[in-house]
Amino acid sequence: MSVVYLNGDYLPADQAKVSVNDRGFLFGDGVYEVTPAYRGLLFRWAQHVARMRKGLAALGIDYDAAALEAVKQGLLARNGLDDVPVAYVYVQVTRGIAPRTHAFPNPPVPPSVYGFANQYVRPAREVWERGYSAITVPDQRWALAEIKAIALLPNCLAQQAAVDAGVSDAIFVRDGIALEGSHNNLFAVFDGVVTTAPKSNYILHGVTRDLLIELARELGLPVEERAIPVAELYSADEVFFTGTTTEVRPSVEVDGRKIGDGRVGPVARGLFDAFLRVTAG
Ligand code: PLP
Repeated sequence: MSVVYLNGDYLPADQAKVSVNDRGFLFGDGVYEVTPAYRGLLFRWAQHVARMRKGLAALGIDYDAAALEAVKQGLLARNGLDDVPVAYVYVQVTRGIAPRTHAFPNPPVPPSVYGFANQYVRPAREVWERGYSAITVPDQRWALAEIKAIALLPNCLAQQAAVDAGVSDAIFVRDGIALEGSHNNLFAVFDGVVTTAPKSNYILHGVTRDLLIELARELGLPVEERAIPVAELYSADEVFFTGTTTEVRPSVEVDGRKIGDGRVGPVARGLFDAFLRVTAG
């Protein structure tokens, strides 16, 4: 039985109970973060906590996200994940418990904080080397996609569409522009240029996205942050996704069309190897 964190206590998951009046339950009124831990060490925590602070500020939830570092470490230790190669630690903060009414409780109530941790087992390299597939879906999300809100229904619908289509990833398309995946950022390679959507309110500003851009520059690869029309995406030499739970995942087919020569390309491979080196070290 995994041990979870709820409002100050660590307890077995089946004993953790949330009020029906929690605004996370009623409205999806909260934010979350998933941070990877490699051999028990939180990776890029400063970037994750900075994003959570921004999300909390955007929603007007008064909570000091710095407290979450100890929670995350507590979850790793209590679940025996201090020494596994990769674990993910999830935490969410909601506006708290109050009778259901759209406007915020006044005076404010204490936020509810919930967290859990899981081990992650990376797919075998042979599987990765075969490549994955993706479909495009209309982006039906709100226009504040840079907030890591727990309200993820459009993302769930998109990922289910991918599952129904027998592929790994769904790419959100807004006004003909391929923006990002349902739970990861999108990259394409055109003539050696590593290309990804610019940061805006229409994508989540992924911590792994930033890391991949840094790694690409270190490898001497040109990087361009610009809009990628879907029609152009189909003609990319390579397509891949990045994210905490995705790491680096190459797609060799989008909407049934072969990408490049239909095989995992050297840029995705080189960047994944660099990612593995950095996260192992
Ligand atoms: N885009 C979306 C919509 C996401 O939900 C996520 C992660 O959950 C990402 C991108 C990748 O972000 P990160 O690399 O910080 O995990």
